[in-house]
Amino acid sequence: MTANANLLKGETGDWEVVIGLEVHAQVLTKSKLFSGASADFGAAPNAQVSPVDAGMPGMLPVINKECISKAVLTGLGLNAKINNVSVFERKNYFYPDLPQGYQISQYQHPIVGNGIIEIDLPDGTTKKIGVERLHLEQDAGKSLHDQHPHKSFVDLNRSGNPLMEIVSMPDMRSPEEAGAYVTKLRAIVRYLGTCDGNMDEGSMRCDVNVSVRKPGAELGTRCEIKNVNSVRFVQQAIEFESRRQIEVIEGGGKITQETRLFDTKNGTTRAMRSKEDAHDYRYFPDPDLLPLVVEDAFIDALRKSMPELPDAKKHRFMHEYGLSLQDASVLIAEKERTDYFEAVAKGHDPKLAANWVLSELLGALKKVEKELSDSPVKPEQLGGLVGLISDNTISGKIAKEVFAEMFATGKNAADIVEARGLKQVTDTGAIDKIVSEVVAENPDKVAEYKGGKDKLFGFFVGQILKRSGGKANPGMVNDILKKKLEE
Ligand code: ADP
Ligand code: MG
Repeated sequence: MTANANLLKGETGDWEVVIGLEVHAQVLTKSKLFSGASADFGAAPNAQVSPVDAGMPGMLPVINKECISKAVLTGLGLNAKINNVSVFERKNYFYPDLPQGYQISQYQHPIVGNGIIEIDLPDGTTKKIGVERLHLEQDAGKSLHDQHPHKSFVDLNRSGNPLMEIVSMPDMRSPEEAGAYVTKLRAIVRYLGTCDGNMDEGSMRCDVNVSVRKPGAELGTRCEIKNVNSVRFVQQAIEFESRRQIEVIEGGGKITQETRLFDTKNGTTRAMRSKEDAHDYRYFPDPDLLPLVVEDAFIDALRKSMPELPDAKKHRFMHEYGLSLQDASVLIAEKERTDYFEAVAKGHDPKLAANWVLSELLGALKKVEKELSDSPVKPEQLGGLVGLISDNTISGKIAKEVFAEMFATGKNAADIVEARGLKQVTDTGAIDKIVSEVVAENPDKVAEYKGGKDKLFGFFVGQILKRSGGKANPGMVNDILKKKLEE
């Protein structure tokens, strides 16, 4: 193995962090996995509960076909094997928010098998992370402990909601890799329309498995941090947990396999319960549900319906538009960004278009906490600005001023340039005149420059641009100034 920048230093040398993620993604459907009740978010407590979801005796689950289509689509998006036969099993445990006394899930035979997610790292490299499986399961309800001084309540709206559990291989080695994995997975399900990916509403949440080892050693014992609900929290949880484990081991202790909670207030994790093993759940095939068969024709039809996915778009942006991997991967993180960018790039320099979308527009939107869909500058308008830079009507520096006004007023670039007289001066005579003036006014600096103080060139350029009101074409200023100073 080559030097690994991800290694953590400890008292006893270097440690490697090993991470595997289980992501629960709520399938974007109108109704639940086995009942016709609504699966929408935010209704009044218990307004969306059918007898099936309430676990009434004798109720029979009926599979929602839409959930199967979306699970298969997601599997295809993860480059995964789709299993023609899968089996729903009962995972038995008691919890007040689980009225059935078991969760219907898939265990030995999931609907989707091995797949791969390509992640994009901040240093401009990519890495392939294995997906072990994707299976369908029901969500549980929610206990409410903060509504009454002496009583707890239960809200079963979530009970029976359709979840896809996507389990990764223990292939990640740093908080950055885990963050990139969640970001890419979220982009994929959003492009496919199989999950809305809204982590703050809980429709995507993450169980983070962390262990540490000496490089090359066997996998260490893992701890699982439950229900982490943002990319930043996933990364913080890994940072804290890996250091905690290293300290325990270096202090002569042992890691016990356990389930931990992440405390968002102070960025720490704490023990919740010791971890069950699979045999504690007494899994067995649900006798109310036949094995699920998905035929190749069904899978093929879904494959044909797939949109262009994030990685395909990323590679196309690099080849078709010559973008860097970094720029392309920031754009594809959200489908809206790619649509916006492609509209700006239409008929304009694509690299310049990407620059303006990524650094100026997204930055400006972030400052005022607006989404791209609410941008006061429309793509055609930003395209107009890019066009004015490309054809030398305005300099990049003036363009920033123009952009600020576009952003504040929604006006077109050309109108602002016209009204404020910002057109770049490309008239040789006019530039020549200013250059001569500035050179004539600074005889000592000219002498110093000629005596070898090259840095002064920048001083002259600055003075000249300033006198032109920022409008002189910088390239022409350079050329003319150089000649003049050599005279
Ligand atoms: P469980 O439901 O018991 O947590 P799963 O098989 O659903 O088991 O998920 C296990 C997760 O833990 C997977 O994402 C896997 O990659 C990860 N994992 C397994 N062993 C380790 C380890 N030693 N260190 C870190 N992650 C691990
Ligand atoms: Mg788990």
